Amino acid sequence: MKETARREHPDKERRPPGRPHKGTGPQENHPGEEGGGTPQPFPGFRISTEEIARMIGERGWKRILVQPPEGLRRGALMLCALLREKGIQADCSLDITYGACDLRPPPPGYDGILHLGHTMIPGVRFSQDTIFYPVTADIDRVEGADTAMERLPARILLVATVQYAFLLDSLALEMRRKGKEVVLPVPGVRTPLPGQILGCTFSHLKRYRDRSDAVLYVGTGRFHPLGAAVSTGLPTYALDPLSGEMTEVEAERFLRKRHALISRAAEGRTWLIAVSTKPGQMRKETAKRIAEEARRRDRKTHLLIGDTLTPDRFIGLPGDVIVSTACPRIALDDTDNYPMPVITPQEAEIALGIRRWEDYEVDGW
Ligand code: SF4
Repeated sequence: MKETARREHPDKERRPPGRPHKGTGPQENHPGEEGGGTPQPFPGFRISTEEIARMIGERGWKRILVQPPEGLRRGALMLCALLREKGIQADCSLDITYGACDLRPPPPGYDGILHLGHTMIPGVRFSQDTIFYPVTADIDRVEGADTAMERLPARILLVATVQYAFLLDSLALEMRRKGKEVVLPVPGVRTPLPGQILGCTFSHLKRYRDRSDAVLYVGTGRFHPLGAAVSTGLPTYALDPLSGEMTEVEAERFLRKRHALISRAAEGRTWLIAVSTKPGQMRKETAKRIAEEARRRDRKTHLLIGDTLTPDRFIGLPGDVIVSTACPRIALDDTDNYPMPVITPQEAEIALGIRRWEDYEVDGW
């Protein structure tokens, strides 16, 4: 997603399954069940106001700031109202929160943060105590798994975004019973759940390449399965766990487009190299290294530092290309919205001739 209007960030891919909860799953409670008809702030997702209130109470917090991602802001207001009924002063942040890479301390007077929709990124530290409350889909089983298995080869690398990662263990079991070999990636530096992927974590999937014939992505949206397909080079299938529809991912068009952008960037004489100050996106050393390599190859460079990279910040600037060292999705998903090509650090290396096109990698941590 672009920082202002990113298209397919996990949060924007959420949509209510429209199915009743069946009473089992990773969360202890379900809002529809608690207190006999407590309003559900996020229909179609598992979130328990009772559980959240208990977690806040255990910490002794009296006043919290709720940080929702863009797609959950309306529900977050209702959640705040429900928490206030329970004696917790809960206010909702107006700022857009893109992920656990984007946590900020609350204004003075708050005891802590309730961060909705994402798991924590272990390497990103914050001074303020934070409750991470991932909002998972309210389903118990992946639709279409049986039909999908008939189409899939023998050895499967299984991945999902945070909303569906809790379904992977049981799906893997089901697949193994049907004779498939299933590899579930171990938690990574930014992904604490087995099989979980983020829009900025694909490189770890490569280590499973030799043990897998195909990737099965459980979730919605295009970007994550595309990232998995390009990173592994394996046939990749996206299974929508709500509709049961499975499609094969086509990466060729994406790669052709990136190739064209890299070629344009290679011809650019002035490079704008952008760094985000978001705690989990900041890669200043990478930016400095790319700037140095570019200057050595006769390009002018400008280092630009800011919180959120948005297209309007680059309008009117004298540059031919932007190298984004922030969230990889800015370059990979949103370049069309910018006034000049936006490329990743790895793509910048190709444009400068220090990496071969055959060694193309999806940017990330
Ligand atoms: S850096 Fe990663 S976690 Fe942060 S917004 Fe981008 S994809 Fe999401």
